[in-house]
Amino acid sequence: MIQELKELAQRAETELQGAHTEEALNVLRTKYLGRKGLLTQMLRQLGSVSTTERPLFGRLSNEIKEKISASLDAALERIKDSRRNELLCREAIDITLPGRAVRIGHRHPVTQVMEEICGIFSRLGFTVEEGPEIETDYYNFEALNIPKDHPARDMQDTFYVEDNIVLRTHTSPVQIRTMEKMQPPVRILSPGKVYRPDSDVSHTPMFHQIEGLLVDRGITFGDLKGTLTFFLQEVFGADILLRFRPSFFPFTEPSAEVDIRCVMCGGEGCRVCGQSGWLEILGSGMVDPAVFANVGYDPEGYSGFAFGLGVERIAMLKYGISDIRLFFDNDVRFLEQF
Ligand SMILES: [Zn+2]
Repeated sequence: MIQELKELAQRAETELQGAHTEEALNVLRTKYLGRKGLLTQMLRQLGSVSTTERPLFGRLSNEIKEKISASLDAALERIKDSRRNELLCREAIDITLPGRAVRIGHRHPVTQVMEEICGIFSRLGFTVEEGPEIETDYYNFEALNIPKDHPARDMQDTFYVEDNIVLRTHTSPVQIRTMEKMQPPVRILSPGKVYRPDSDVSHTPMFHQIEGLLVDRGITFGDLKGTLTFFLQEVFGADILLRFRPSFFPFTEPSAEVDIRCVMCGGEGCRVCGQSGWLEILGSGMVDPAVFANVGYDPEGYSGFAFGLGVERIAMLKYGISDIRLFFDNDVRFLEQF
């Protein structure tokens, strides 16, 4: 029996050498140590071993059991190790490779200019107000002193959603909505999208406008002039030349358009300024008393001025861009220049 036991141990050791997978090891474990395993079976014969050999047989079989078990564990550990190493080699990261540059986006040039403009006016105490892009006829026209038969209401100049509902053609309705809900002093900017059925190198059906409104006691045209002069000098530089030219808007009286000396030709005359040497940059005027009456302000007690400008136009002049549609093509080669 002792001899058989030793042979069994020898056989197990040899078979273990030849097992190179986890599966093969498990088979061996069952074969020798399992409940019906060879060693287990042999131990069951302990009773038939002579009493003199029994202690030796018992000790030896325990030793063999522990040895086989330990060998199996060690072999299993080696297999797991080598698999882990293989995996590590295959998935290794070559840290000597140069890194890939992270591409960080940035704000759209129109947004940048809009924020710059709002920033300048906020230093003068203006706050930003917003309103709906789909407006009623009343807020877009009527309340702004643009009656039903006014040419600005022509179907050609306005997107109508329904009979009395339009896509706002300017951000001026925000001025009315603001004056309806607050008493003077009012000092607001209304930036946002506006819509007009127009499309060429200097017009797109949607563009961005910023309007400003200041209402208080004793506001004069001098305040308008000073505010807008400060603003244009901030945007185009302190030495920019400007002129105020009489104009007409239904909701202001008197009204003035503001021109700057052409930033392309410096006043010599070029294609951009139509050889005039001047560029129209914004519209402005003293708020018409009829508008104050519409929102319930006392036209005798209060006065104020309003102005409006196209954000894309300012951006085009600031950056020397010749086609407004470039802003909305969203070609990254164009956008990443800003
Ligand atoms: Zn010019």
